[in-house]
Amino acid sequence: MSGTAADRRPLLEVRDLTVHFPVRSGVFSRVSAWVRAVDGISFDLAAGETLGLVGESGCGKTTAGRAVLRLLEPTSGQVVFDGRDLIRMNRRELRATRPRMQIVFQDPYASLNPRMTVGDIVGEPLRAHGLARGSEFDDRVAALLERVGLQASYRFRYPHEFSGGQRQRVGIARALALSPELIVCDEAISALDVSIQAQILNLLQDLQDEYGLSYLFISHDLSVVEHIADRVAVMYLGQFVELAPVAELFREPQHPYTQALMSANPVPDPGARVVRIPLEGDVPTPLRPPPGCRFHTRCPRVMDACRTHEPPHIRTAVGSSVHETWCHLYAG
Ligand code: SF4
Repeated sequence: MSGTAADRRPLLEVRDLTVHFPVRSGVFSRVSAWVRAVDGISFDLAAGETLGLVGESGCGKTTAGRAVLRLLEPTSGQVVFDGRDLIRMNRRELRATRPRMQIVFQDPYASLNPRMTVGDIVGEPLRAHGLARGSEFDDRVAALLERVGLQASYRFRYPHEFSGGQRQRVGIARALALSPELIVCDEAISALDVSIQAQILNLLQDLQDEYGLSYLFISHDLSVVEHIADRVAVMYLGQFVELAPVAELFREPQHPYTQALMSANPVPDPGARVVRIPLEGDVPTPLRPPPGCRFHTRCPRVMDACRTHEPPHIRTAVGSSVHETWCHLYAG
């Protein structure tokens, strides 16, 4: 790839992103505790790249995705988008940057206003930013619908007239309206039937090829992430436990939590020998994460050090990329 070093700077650089929510109690609503939903995650995302973010429900992945877009306020950290820190932007700067970053939600029905026609839903961002009016507005909405595989004439219909897969196509068309560079897909296909999931995944990949989009693809489903991601970050109780190129992670998962998640993943070959690693107990509350390694209360390979000391951050070169693991097993 040609270009200067500046050209190769990641589109998104997230550093020590932390999101803590206050818990209030008593007549004066004093802050009595903090929910540590996201606790110091860091990653880069290149232009045209897909980073999968996986973990059990409640691990903080959705909160992380929204904090990256500043749809909720991070407690601390940096989110540098195209060289500028979103967290330090004022309202006007943020509004000017917003069109470049969009989100596709899990439930396409809940995220579409049932009283608006599909044309108005898809075109709403164009109107909000004063980018098209009259016949140009109609043409752009028609082109967006056709680009996601819907007929232009559907713009006069309402969301309830569509199937789940079609509604998600509407959500994607709306996200594309402002020609974004980054899209956060928050469990974007989880509510769909398996056959429809494949169609929407293919659509997302086609759009990425065509427009060079970057995706932060949030999912609890490892097989979906394996299909679409270039690299995968595994999250547990607000922190990353492993981050690696997708083929490397699936060939050689290092962290016991990743290994357990993978062993629970359905394998298409019924003859394949799969050793299940049971994950016992529930995820502890993010109000009081366990000391040391947060996974130690459920880890089948727990050692004494895990209960008291934070795990080291181990980085191993894999070609031009890096396999990162946070675990005492790999220290020295
Ligand atoms: Fe298990 Fe210890 Fe590694 Fe945590 S640091 S995953 S408890 S072996």
